[in-house]
Amino acid sequence: MIKVELAERLRHLPPYLFAEIDRLKQEELRKGADIIDFSIGDPDMPTPGHIVDSLQKAAQEPKNHRYPSYEGMPAFRQAVADWYKRRFGVSLDARTEVLSLIGSKEGIGHIPLAFAGPGDVVLYSSPGYPVYPVSALLAGAEGHPMPLLEANGFLPDFESIPPDVLKRAKLMFINYPNNPTSAVAGAEFFEKVVGFADRHNIIVCHDAAYSEIYYNGRRPGSFLETPGAKQTGIEFHSLSKTYNMTGWRIGFAVGNRDVIAGLGKIKTNLDSGVFRAVQEAGITALETGDEILSGIRQAYQQRRDALYSGLTGLGIQCAKPEATFYLWASCPAAGKNDSRSFAKHLLEKAGVAVTPGVGFGAAGEGYVRFALTVSVSRIEEAVERIGKCRPPASA
Ligand SMILES: *Cc1c(COP(=O)(O)O)cnc(C)c1O
Repeated sequence: MIKVELAERLRHLPPYLFAEIDRLKQEELRKGADIIDFSIGDPDMPTPGHIVDSLQKAAQEPKNHRYPSYEGMPAFRQAVADWYKRRFGVSLDARTEVLSLIGSKEGIGHIPLAFAGPGDVVLYSSPGYPVYPVSALLAGAEGHPMPLLEANGFLPDFESIPPDVLKRAKLMFINYPNNPTSAVAGAEFFEKVVGFADRHNIIVCHDAAYSEIYYNGRRPGSFLETPGAKQTGIEFHSLSKTYNMTGWRIGFAVGNRDVIAGLGKIKTNLDSGVFRAVQEAGITALETGDEILSGIRQAYQQRRDALYSGLTGLGIQCAKPEATFYLWASCPAAGKNDSRSFAKHLLEKAGVAVTPGVGFGAAGEGYVRFALTVSVSRIEEAVERIGKCRPPASA
C-alpha cells in the first residue's frame, strides 16, 4: 500500500469557498426542496439546431476522426479571423495570430506555464474567474489580486499595485464584460491597459467570454481594437456562452503572435487539439446570423429586467447589467455583509440558490451573484419567495 501524497502546489490552492453552499444545496435537494437555482453560470438554453446538425454531419466524416492539428484547422482559424473582422473591424493573420482552444478555460489555465514561474507575479482582477489565480499558482508563480471596487466602476486601479510586485509582474488577466460583476469597460480603460502593460512589460490576457451577451444593442468592444493592443497581449474567446455550447469545449485565443506561439508551445506538449467535427461546428457557429443571437439576448434581457426590478423592489441593491448573464447584488446592510450567510439564508428560507461573492475573491465579499440561467416565471417566483423571507433591515 503506497502513501498517496499531494504535491506541494496542490496543497497551496486557495480554499474552495463554494463548498459549504454547494453542500447545503445538495442537502436541500435531497430533502426534496424546490430550489430555484441562480448559482450556475451555464446557459440553460440548447445549442442552436444548425450547429448541432453541422456536428452530426462532420462526425460522419472519417477524416475528422484522426488527431486534429495542434493549433486548429486552417478553416476554423480563418473563420475566427473573418468573425473578428466583421464584429470588431480587427484584422488577424489566421496562421500566426489565432489559436484554437479546448474551451477558453484550457488556454487561461495553461498560459502562465509559458510566461511565468517562480519569483514572477501574475496580476488578476478580483472578484473574478477562479482559474486566474490557480493557473498562476500551478505554474509556480505568485498571483496578485487587483480588487474591482464598485467605486471605480469595477475596474482595477493600477496605481495601487505595490512597486516591488509590479517589478516582477509578467502577465495580467482582465475580463470585460466582467464575470461576476457584469461591469463593462470602455475604450479609455483599454487604452490605459495598453499604456500600463507597455511601460511595465506585462503580457495582457483579456478574457472576453461574454463579449456577445449584451443588452439594448450596446455591443462591447474588443481589447484588440485599442491602438497598440496587439503589441501587448491577447484576447481569449469562448463559444460556450455565446452559442450555448459549454459542453462542446471549444474556444480560441487571438492577438500577439509571440504570445500565441508561447501558449501554442505549451499546448503542443499537453494536448492534441479540438475534435475536428467540433471545429466544423464551431465554424458554423461563428457564421450564425444575428436573428438567432438576438433571440438569445432577448431571453436574457427579459430575465435581467424581471430580476433587476424584482430585487431592487425589495430594496436589494444591484447595478443593472449592460452585458453578461449575471447580476451582482449587494448583501443587505444588516449584519456583517457576509455573502456566505446571505446565500445560506436565501437557500434555507427561500429555496433560492445564489453564489456568495467571496468565493470569487476577497473583494467579492458583500455581494452575491445571480446567474440569469433561470426562466422568467421562476425568477418571478424567486422574487416573491425572497420578499417573504427578507430579514428586517434592523436584524
Ligand atoms: C465561462 C467562462 C470561461 C470559460 O469558458 P469555456 O470556453 O467554456 O472554457 C472563461 N472565462 C469566464 C469569465 C467565464 O465565465
